[in-house]
Amino acid sequence: MIEENVRKIRECIPKDVVIVAAAKSRTVEEVQKVIEAGITIIGENYIQEAEKKIEVIKNQAEWHFIGHLQKNKVKKAVKLFDVIQTLDSPELARLIDRECGKIGKVMPVMIEVNIACESQKNGVYPEEVEKLVKDVLELKNIKLIGLMTMGPLLEDPQDIRPFFRKTKEIFDRIKSKYADALEWKYLSMGMSETYRIAIEEGANMVRIGTAIFGPRG
Ligand SMILES: *Cc1c(COP(=O)(O)O)cnc(C)c1O
Repeated sequence: MIEENVRKIRECIPKDVVIVAAAKSRTVEEVQKVIEAGITIIGENYIQEAEKKIEVIKNQAEWHFIGHLQKNKVKKAVKLFDVIQTLDSPELARLIDRECGKIGKVMPVMIEVNIACESQKNGVYPEEVEKLVKDVLELKNIKLIGLMTMGPLLEDPQDIRPFFRKTKEIFDRIKSKYADALEWKYLSMGMSETYRIAIEEGANMVRIGTAIFGPRG
């Protein structure tokens, strides 16, 4: 089933779009099947849950943190993960930098944008992105590689399009303005219901759970 799902998704998206399998609440066995189906990146939302899977699967996959990173979990997160997609404050950046410094790691990080400015959601507001980029450029142990957004949850998935478009505009603006200072590569947006729209609007990384694993139990 998982293999069939992955094949179908692959068939309808461009080759250069990276798929992250969003694996929250999925078992080690399910994650293993996804890897067998050719997926190379696993996204996890919770540190403890990820730890158990990473212990078994190790570097058979690249591990991306895609949940909300609490400050008291940073130490663990920088040890476990290959990429953190959800940087959302200068304080968090400084903590990541400090913990990475202790273990001699340079962490690839993406900034999470709260593109619809929803007060209950994580991520920085659109107008704060550039300031955070500048702050992070001062830190030695973080390498900024792009932007991530969830976008608002809407009844009609098509309604998310303008929010993806706006995120792409910010992505492009940062890319051209900081071309010399950054390896700014990834725009991570789109989930099971919205990845096709996201790709049309410029995403080159999509985070897919349900459409790969089936409905969450
Ligand atoms: C769960 C999750 C996804 C995938 O959601 P689906 O609708 O199951 O595809 C993507 N990104 C994040 C941050 C998630 O938590």
